[in-house]
Amino acid sequence: MRFPLALTVKMARHIVKHKRRRTARFALVLQLEPLHTCNLSCTGCGRIREYSTSLKDMMSLEDCLGAAQECDAPMVSICGGEPLIYPKIEELVAGLLGQGRIVYVCTNAMFMRKKLKDYLAAVYSPGLEPTLTRLRAEKLIADKDAETIRKGKTDGRPVIAPTKWLYWNVHVDGLEYTHDLIVEREGVFKECVEAIRMAKILGFQVATNTTVYKETEVQELEQMFEFFSSLGVDGHTISPGYDYDAAKKDMAKRLGKKSEDFFLTRAMTQQKFARIQEWGKRFTIFGTTVYQEFLAGKRDLTCTAWAIPTRNVRGWKAPCYLMTDGHFQHYQEMLDQVDWNKYGVVEGVARDPRCENCMVHCGYDPSGALGTNYLPGDNWKMVKYNFGRKPAPYHAGRQVEAFNGYSIGKGHLAEANAAINSGLAGAKSAFQTQGGGAAGGSGSRAGQNPPGKKAPAAGSPPDPLPRYQK
Ligand code: SF4
Ligand code: SF4
Repeated sequence: MRFPLALTVKMARHIVKHKRRRTARFALVLQLEPLHTCNLSCTGCGRIREYSTSLKDMMSLEDCLGAAQECDAPMVSICGGEPLIYPKIEELVAGLLGQGRIVYVCTNAMFMRKKLKDYLAAVYSPGLEPTLTRLRAEKLIADKDAETIRKGKTDGRPVIAPTKWLYWNVHVDGLEYTHDLIVEREGVFKECVEAIRMAKILGFQVATNTTVYKETEVQELEQMFEFFSSLGVDGHTISPGYDYDAAKKDMAKRLGKKSEDFFLTRAMTQQKFARIQEWGKRFTIFGTTVYQEFLAGKRDLTCTAWAIPTRNVRGWKAPCYLMTDGHFQHYQEMLDQVDWNKYGVVEGVARDPRCENCMVHCGYDPSGALGTNYLPGDNWKMVKYNFGRKPAPYHAGRQVEAFNGYSIGKGHLAEANAAINSGLAGAKSAFQTQGGGAAGGSGSRAGQNPPGKKAPAAGSPPDPLPRYQK
C-alpha cells in the first residue's frame, strides 16, 4: 500500500476517536520548534527572521515532550530552525517515539550524516563491516569515520535509529542549482543527496519536503521527484510558498524584491499544481487526495490550521504556522480563545486579507483528512489513495542531471553575491543578465540552462551520478 499500514491506522483511529466524541477541534500533527537557530539562512524562510531576537532560546526537553502530550497529536514534525542543532534531539526523538507518536525530523540535512555515523557507532559489530565497506566505496563516509565507528559509542546518550515510526524529512526545493540558490549556500543539495543515500542504505525512511515558489518550474519539480524516487525516497511533501508577513518583509529589506516576484498567488498555485494528481500516481506524494484537488483548483476547502498547531519557544503560535497574532501558554487555551472564523478563504472571499493567497498544507491538508467541505465519494477516494499500490521507484530518475550547479563548478552564488553587493535594487537584473537566477530567488533561469540539464562545464565536471549506479 502507498503508506505504511500502521501509520495510516494510527492517524485514522485518532480521527475516528475525536469524531465519535464530537471534539470540535483537535490536533493531527504538531509542528514542534524546539529552537529557531539555523545553520542556513534560506530565502523565503520567515522563521529565522520572525524570531531573530530569540534565536538563542530553546525549549527544554520537558516542554517539548509536554507539548506533544498536551495536544496529543499522533504525528510530530520536529522542525525549527534546524532541529539537529538542538542539543537533546536524540532524547527528544526517543521521548516522542516512547509516547507512541509518528516522528518526522525536518532537516536541511547538513548534520544528518553525523547523526547517521553516531547511530552506526552505537550499533557497531563486526557484522556491519560490509555496510562500512559500501559506505566508504560510495564515498559517504571517510576511512577515519569508519575507524571512529568501530570504536563504538560510549557516552550513554540515545541515537536516532531506524523504525517504521520515524522519517527523516529533508528540505529540498529543486535540483542543485535551484536548491542551492534558495538556501543561499553552495553544496547543500549535494549534501542532502549524500545524506539521503546513506540513510537509505542504513534502512531509514526518508521523505523530501519541497516549497514551490513563483519561479520554480513544473518540469524541474517532476525531474526532482524522478531523481529522488530513484534514490529510494519514501515520499514527498510539497506545498506552495506564499507571501506571509515575515518572509515578505525579509524579501523587501534584504533582497530588494517585491513579494510578488517570489511567492505564489492562489491562481499561480493552481497553475503550478495542476498536475499534482498525476504526480500522486507516479510518486508517493504525502497528503490527502482532497488537498491535492484543492491545490489543483478543482475544489474549495476551509482552513483548519488548529489541526496542525505550532509550538515554539514563545508558546502555541496562533493562528497558524505562518501567521502570528499571538502565542498562548496552552493548546486548549489557544483553541478556546482564537476566533477561528476570522481566518481562511471561504467561497473565494478571504476572511483575513493575509490569508488570501494561502493554500499551504498546514492550513488545508488536514481539512481533507477531517472531511471539511465533504463531497460524496471523498471517503472512497481517500481509501483508494491511501491503500492503493505504492508507486515503484523510478529507476530512470538516475539519468536526471540533478547536479546542474555547484558540483560542476558553476559558482552561481558567487555571481549572485557579486550582484547583490553591487546594489540591492539592481541585484536581480544584474544577476539575470549574467545568465543566473534571480538573486536569492528560486532560480529564474533566463538565459540559463533548463532545470535538470547540464550546463556547459564552467569548471571541473565531476558528475557524481555514476557513483550511484549499483
Ligand atoms: S533550513 Fe529551514 S529553518 Fe533554516 S533557514 Fe532554511 S528554511 Fe529556515
Ligand atoms: S489560510 Fe489558514 S493557514 Fe493560511 S495564513 Fe490563513 S490562517 Fe494561516
